Amino acid sequence: MSEASGHRYILALGSNMRLSGVGGPRAVLRAAIEVLADQELDVLAVSPIIASAPVGPSQRRYANAAILVASHLSPPDMLSLLQAVERDFGRQRRGQRWRARTLDLDIVLWTGGIWVSPDLAIPHPAFRERPFVLIPAAQIAPGWRDPLTGLTLRQLEARAV
Ligand code: ADP
Ligand code: MG
Repeated sequence: MSEASGHRYILALGSNMRLSGVGGPRAVLRAAIEVLADQELDVLAVSPIIASAPVGPSQRRYANAAILVASHLSPPDMLSLLQAVERDFGRQRRGQRWRARTLDLDIVLWTGGIWVSPDLAIPHPAFRERPFVLIPAAQIAPGWRDPLTGLTLRQLEARAV
């Protein structure tokens, strides 16, 4: 909890690894949400954690969730914060893209609408095709409209699953 305000963000969380001292993917997500709640943002809503099938050659099932947060952080600062938390949880970026990962934190939407820069795009470019993002996101913010398609999260979810 902090002096959050300003913007709202929907963040997607994913994990498919056990982390020693923390537990399996679901416990990793719960711990990550606790860590995020200590940063410069307020957690306003947390979705249930869902299980989804492995992506690519990864072996383990993923745990996925979405959270709604309020923060004064700009999108690049929010991305830096998320990447710092990913690093804290031991995610490594070498090797193949879909290798097992301890924690993946993505910005799905924000109240500022469209953001495009070389290393950050909001809305997240792939979220409309990812049920494991849409299902939890639609549970916490069903009426939020994607600025690119004009569809709500509820509508996008209904289309994707
Ligand atoms: P994915 O999240 O699609 O599974 P990665 O986490 O490996 O894949 O993505 C890596 C890069 O994606 C990051 O270095 C970041 O710069 C970029 N990126 C672009 N848009 C976003 C976004 N909305 N949220 C998070 N990362 C993003
Ligand atoms: Mg990511």
